[in-house]
Amino acid sequence: MKKQHPKHEQTLVVLKPDGIQRSLIGEIIKRFEQLGLKLTAVKMLVPTADFVKKHYTLDPEWPLKTGQKTIKAYHDRGLKHPVSDDPLKVSEVILQKLIRYMTSGPVVAMVWQGAHAVEMVRKLVGGTEPRTSDVGTIRGDYVLDSYAMSDIDGRSIRNLIHASGSVTEADMEIPLWFKQEEIVEYKLVQEAILYDVNLDGLLE
Ligand code: ADP
Repeated sequence: MKKQHPKHEQTLVVLKPDGIQRSLIGEIIKRFEQLGLKLTAVKMLVPTADFVKKHYTLDPEWPLKTGQKTIKAYHDRGLKHPVSDDPLKVSEVILQKLIRYMTSGPVVAMVWQGAHAVEMVRKLVGGTEPRTSDVGTIRGDYVLDSYAMSDIDGRSIRNLIHASGSVTEADMEIPLWFKQEEIVEYKLVQEAILYDVNLDGLLE
């Protein structure tokens, strides 16, 4: 049975091929560790095209949402999307580019656990487009890609990292990437400070 306390929430993070090539594995892991989250699974692999497609279509709403988000980003800058006004056509093109991007080299997949893990990780990761991601976020601080540039070059936005967008998404994505036995249940000593009701035993 799923444990209900927020401290048990888990999320999937994937460091994309550009994140690995930029030597940012340690830096990005450090951000989640410093927040207080617990790493419960990790592996490196080169995903296949089928696997990437499966990952991005686990959520049946993804094509519509992603197409709409992209078209809105254009409208917000007074521009028309170069491919189409139809979100589903836009996301079909995005998916093809994403497959090329995500299969280009090794990725590191991880499961992070802790209070409100999905929301906290997304906050640290920032928005889809690094150009408009907030300063202080991973996508805002470590990379400078933009829709304008990725469209000119006909490629995916390079934004270093994937993180589950909701608890429902995390619950579908984690079992796709990890077998149950690859996820380790263990205690981190610091969890006593983060979650215990009373901070007993600190004083000598
Ligand atoms: P996020 O990763 O921020 O949750 P999405 O799920 O909407 O974003 O999209 C998945 C990935 O597809 C993005 O992280 C990015 O690499 C790529 N992508 C999304 N929209 C575009 C776009 N308009 N142009 C190029 N690549 C895109």
